[in-house]
Amino acid sequence: MVSSYTQLVVKRYGERLDGDAKEFMAYVVDGAARMKQLIEDLLAYSRVGTKGKEFKPVAVEAPLKRAITNLRAAIEESGAEITYDPMPTVNADDVQLAQLFQNLMGNALKFKGPEKAKIRVEAKENPAEWEFHVRDNGIGIEPQYFERIFMVFQRLHNKGEYPGTGIGLAICKKVVERHGGRIWVESQSGEGSAFHFTLPKQKGNG
Ligand code: ADP
Repeated sequence: MVSSYTQLVVKRYGERLDGDAKEFMAYVVDGAARMKQLIEDLLAYSRVGTKGKEFKPVAVEAPLKRAITNLRAAIEESGAEITYDPMPTVNADDVQLAQLFQNLMGNALKFKGPEKAKIRVEAKENPAEWEFHVRDNGIGIEPQYFERIFMVFQRLHNKGEYPGTGIGLAICKKVVERHGGRIWVESQSGEGSAFHFTLPKQKGNG
């Protein structure tokens, strides 16, 4: 309501506003849009624990492909290249796995470096768990921020540089932990990032 009616005011009465009022209205419209995004992201965060589905065998390639489809516009716009290994079948919530891949790959596209974005998704088998890697050739992250970025609202850039609410990785952490796994990052500033997460082979129902 707030967002659509402020937009309507600008559209219908914009011409009649003076310079200052126009400028202030632009802040109101922008603020309302961000508030909406923030509420949606917080709801998504909260629902990881409350609205998750029961775990069942999931061929991981399916949620991975769904995430790529959802990101199609950003991938095509930037000409990004995405490649992936053969993926295993794990006991999981497929909707949450798609969200996990989408958040990680969406960040790789957003925080791209000067070159064309390249994303590589790998799966490695360990005795008790699968280990997944999402690697990019983007701007990278300095080591002192490796833990902080997984907390809600923690961002390393202002919204003018890169849009976002700082909730995406907190959702990833919550999803992975609900599945009994771990998530962490390795990176060097300017050298790209590698996000790693594990999913145990045996885990009861979420
Ligand atoms: P948002 O993308 O909304 O800012 P996230 O929780 O997804 O929030 O990410 C938190 C911060 O971690 C980002 O603002 C960014 O500074 C950093 N980050 C996340 N993914 C990457 C990446 N692939 N490359 C570089 N920095 C990243």
